[in-house]
Amino acid sequence: MSVRLTPEQIERYSRQIMIPDVGGKGQIRLRQGRVLIIGAGGLGSPAAFYLAAAGVGTLGLVDSDRVDLSNLQRQILHSTADLGREKVASAKDKLARLNPEVEILAFPVRLDEKNAADLIAGYDFIVDGSDNFATKFLVNDAAVALGKAFSHAGIVRLQGQTMTVIPGKGACYRCLFKDPPAPGEILNCQQAGILGAIAGTIGSIQATEAIKYLIGMEEELLVDRLLTYDATAMRFHTIEVRRDPRCGACGDNARGERKLRSMA
Ligand code: ZN
Repeated sequence: MSVRLTPEQIERYSRQIMIPDVGGKGQIRLRQGRVLIIGAGGLGSPAAFYLAAAGVGTLGLVDSDRVDLSNLQRQILHSTADLGREKVASAKDKLARLNPEVEILAFPVRLDEKNAADLIAGYDFIVDGSDNFATKFLVNDAAVALGKAFSHAGIVRLQGQTMTVIPGKGACYRCLFKDPPAPGEILNCQQAGILGAIAGTIGSIQATEAIKYLIGMEEELLVDRLLTYDATAMRFHTIEVRRDPRCGACGDNARGERKLRSMA
């Protein structure tokens, strides 16, 4: 891969290259970057659009669903003409149209315990846009075990939350929430509803975190901070969080086991 930008690339990305934090060097880093997006839905749509537009070199998309009429109110990667298509195929078309330079890898599968490590291993950063607790904990545990940075997010009704996990540098998702809630204990957006624009805001923050990570601004991410967004009162808050030494994913014992494995 050439490490120089062509005149066309310089023009396409000019408005971000002129930002001192990005520059030509940052643009090349984006081009060499690989981001995996779990879920081509409400959060994955804005995240994927902005990452493709920004020139991230490789985007992986994981989603086993097909486009349903009730998705279109928020999952802006998909159009009415895509009803019934695989979401990852529909997403790939839109992203390729936006930026043909980006390599889009489509995985029409559901992330599970068997494929999680293989899917995540080849990427620099993971955007978790999943809509259920089991997948959120699975992404966390696999990313922590592999030492991969990722962005967590959750949305419901007029509210959202997001935090970034850099294994070894701060709290993980399991440090905060310990275990998945019992079924029915917390409503998800399928049961409680979600305003599409809330997904847009939070998914865009996830894309921003991925971009900042790739260009080397990893000291200034949402690490050890849970950002909450309540659009009812239109307020953002930041809650400081701490790594739990007894955490089942990143705690001292879990970490010790990993150290032993890596030394073996
Ligand atoms: Zn943890």
